[in-house]
Amino acid sequence: MNIALIAHDKKKQDIINFSTAYQYILTQHTLYATGTTGRMISDATGLHFHLFQSGPLGGDQQIGAMIANNEMDMVIFFRDPLTAQPHEPDVSALMRLCDVYQIPLATNIAASEIFIKGLHNGDFQWREIVKQKEKENKE
Ligand code: PGA
Repeated sequence: MNIALIAHDKKKQDIINFSTAYQYILTQHTLYATGTTGRMISDATGLHFHLFQSGPLGGDQQIGAMIANNEMDMVIFFRDPLTAQPHEPDVSALMRLCDVYQIPLATNIAASEIFIKGLHNGDFQWREIVKQKEKENKE
């Protein structure tokens, strides 16, 4: 599955801890991340990421484009709700697209832990069915 990881600056250490704890699950999937988040997790864990631009430079929108193309299966987004973000419109747009396309979105560590365990249990296999159906519709 294609999983996107994003963390605002004050949540970067949390996502590194999270990725370290669940590295054994994450490593079985194709990982995408905004630039700084991906580089920091990669340095700490050795996990491989497809890196997009840094969030404020368009990375959130690049992940949004994958969602609009039905290419992203899950978004793990450690948001900082207490700090104003210069790219708040991009953040809102990304979350909106998750709702438009019914893409699982976790915005804090508590929800992310449930998601990652569900991922490991196969609870998100329905995404493969959705993608297969869409592919058939296009043919
Ligand atoms: P970053 O972007 O990983 O490049 O810091 C995250 C964000 O703020 O959206």
